Amino acid sequence: SNPSGRCARCGENVVGDGTGCVAMDQVFHVPCFTCTTCHARLRGQPFYAMERRAYCEACYVVSAGRRGSLPGERGLGI
Ligand SMILES: [Zn+2]
Ligand SMILES: [Zn+2]
Repeated sequence: SNPSGRCARCGENVVGDGTGCVAMDQVFHVPCFTCTTCHARLRGQPFYAMERRAYCEACYVVSAGRRGSLPGERGLGI
């Protein structure tokens, strides 16, 4: 099934096959689903969710290391 709804990043509707993805119970356009820190596209990549923001693995490790803890959940590699 194709995800539908409003993109959590840009607020526009997600329409059309293969243009959207779902992460952290939110819908994103594929190009909008990027690492919060470095803006690398995360579609098809492992990612980590922290406070409802997505991070690539490298940025997550840096950011979590700074906090001295690993509070995030590993994403499913959507
Ligand atoms: Zn979007
Ligand atoms: Zn990153």
